[in-house]
Amino acid sequence: MERIRRIGVMGGTFDPIHHGHLVAASEVQAYFDLDEVIFVPTGQPWQKSDRKVSPAEDRYLMTVIATASNPRFSVSRVDIDRPGPTYTIDTLRDLSRLYPDAELFFITGADALAQILTWRDVDETFKLAQFVGCTRPGTEALELPLDQLPMDRITLLEVPALAISSTECRARVAKGNPTWYLVPDGIVQYIAKRELYTNR
Ligand code: ATP
Ligand code: MG
Repeated sequence: MERIRRIGVMGGTFDPIHHGHLVAASEVQAYFDLDEVIFVPTGQPWQKSDRKVSPAEDRYLMTVIATASNPRFSVSRVDIDRPGPTYTIDTLRDLSRLYPDAELFFITGADALAQILTWRDVDETFKLAQFVGCTRPGTEALELPLDQLPMDRITLLEVPALAISSTECRARVAKGNPTWYLVPDGIVQYIAKRELYTNR
């Protein structure tokens, strides 16, 4: 009998994608024996309206470039092709329609998981996927409202300490500091080619 496909879903702004994202996805893939991890770049991110986010096509292409070499990684356009701000519930609804027989694992950083109750349709969200919260350095101790969360649907997983964030990568580019080895080589080159994050 064929086993149920297990699919990881890694949502993010990916502005730019960096090795922290890739290590987290790789760890979760191995830990849960996932058949595939689908990276899903957001549309206009509703929680980041405080800064200008790079065009969706640039974030999508960077995600494709960074994941191309891993046969278990792929990229979905569901969020960038859907008009309006991205809500996790819509991502999961679209993907469960595309993969009706699969079990979905939504991968998120601990910081994002902590905001979970601000999400839309929380109850349905937890029905559509299991949640994997990756802890990373620099993140303060998780203060999850445990009594309000379905803890049987959440796993916290410690991933190797990679103190990399997209914010730090953008700041480095703006200051002319290197991003080599924080992001894949192709991303360093893509950022330069498209003149991203130079504040011009
Ligand atoms: P920004 O600094 O702009 O917020 P970011 O580095 O947090 O960017 P996002 O695109 O916001 O990147 O993150 C996508 C997902 O990856 C989120 O769930 C986030 O918590 C997680 N994540 C980001 N950086 C890391 C890291 N170094 N290790 C593990 N998970 C990470
Ligand atoms: Mg973030």
